[in-house]
Amino acid sequence: MVDYIGVSDITRLVREIGAGNFIERLAAEIAADYCRWGEFEKSARLASHSRQGVIELMPTSDGSLYSFKFVNGHPGNTQAGLLTVTAFGVLADVRTGYPLLLSELTVTTALRTAATSALAARQLARPDSRVMALIGNGAQAEFQSIAFRRLLGIEELRLFDVDPHATAKLERNLETLPETAGMRVVRCASTAEAVRGADIVSTVTADKRNAIILTPEMIEPGMHLNCIGGDCPGKTELHADIFDRHDLRVVVEYEPQSRIEGEIQQLPPDYPVTELAEVLLSREPGRRSRDEVTVFDSVGFALEDFAALRFLHQLLRARGVPARQVDLVPELADPKDLFGLLAPAAMQRVA
Ligand code: NAD
Repeated sequence: MVDYIGVSDITRLVREIGAGNFIERLAAEIAADYCRWGEFEKSARLASHSRQGVIELMPTSDGSLYSFKFVNGHPGNTQAGLLTVTAFGVLADVRTGYPLLLSELTVTTALRTAATSALAARQLARPDSRVMALIGNGAQAEFQSIAFRRLLGIEELRLFDVDPHATAKLERNLETLPETAGMRVVRCASTAEAVRGADIVSTVTADKRNAIILTPEMIEPGMHLNCIGGDCPGKTELHADIFDRHDLRVVVEYEPQSRIEGEIQQLPPDYPVTELAEVLLSREPGRRSRDEVTVFDSVGFALEDFAALRFLHQLLRARGVPARQVDLVPELADPKDLFGLLAPAAMQRVA
């Protein structure tokens, strides 16, 4: 039997632990795995593009555990009442190849993306950052808000979305969350208004094109840009001229994948970037000066899902209550007699 985490299980687990606490613990697990960067098998994800969106497979292994995530990105889905991003994944034992855990990863992706954003911002944003602009107030927005409140102490959140219903939903949710109690939430009429004076700008929009959410004149000295929504070829959020600044530094997750999918796809292939692991391992500095503009050009990397699946499996095992399980793999008295499962007697037993 294989351990199973469905949507109802993850929501129960996160409610029990508390979303802020969960994100903080997950950020520590992701950081620990990034600090084992050399141990991981790394590859750019395998993407199947269509006019409407993308379906991706994201595998990795540290030699003892293997994981993959199936994830989609369909910006038009919400108009049909569907999520833009959904996902599920598997954690497996390298020794036997057997799956250990089959899990939903839609909620978990939002949690791990927020955890990774905050992890990067802790290294790159000015330590006294208190104001964040959040552009794009859809499914990922609450998770980002909680992570930045919890891990960076953000006190004011400035919201903008082209869809006012999305912002109204976010405001409602933030009002009721214990994690964001006391945080000032300001609704803005435009991206420019939201960004003005912010220490951190998070762009979390969904549009299947080279959108221009941020333009050069919006960028102020010392800002940290946490760019989440540009994560596919032909899908970006920043005006390319922003990268002409001499005082700007770009951090990516895994360079070969980000060159194809990140904001830096718009730039020459030798444009200098730093990998997040190098910063977390202190081989490269975090923020270098107060006025430096830092960009976390996030596309999501398989290692973050690996860490999330590993963490979820540990949580299940540590709880002492038997996890839900599914019969994903046959259990046989004679492993060479797979066909025996189909024999009439066995069929009757199942019936
Ligand atoms: P969503 O569709 O629920 O929300 C996106 C929001 O962006 C919508 O409310 C939409 O109205 C808004 N938007 C679109 N264009 C805009 C514009 N020009 N200005 C302001 N707002 C605009 O999607 P989601 O699940 O919140 O995901 C957001 C983005 O993040 C997607 O592009 C997704 O692919 C990406 N994502 C990245 C990672 C990562 O690891 N980097 C992980 C998850 C999701």
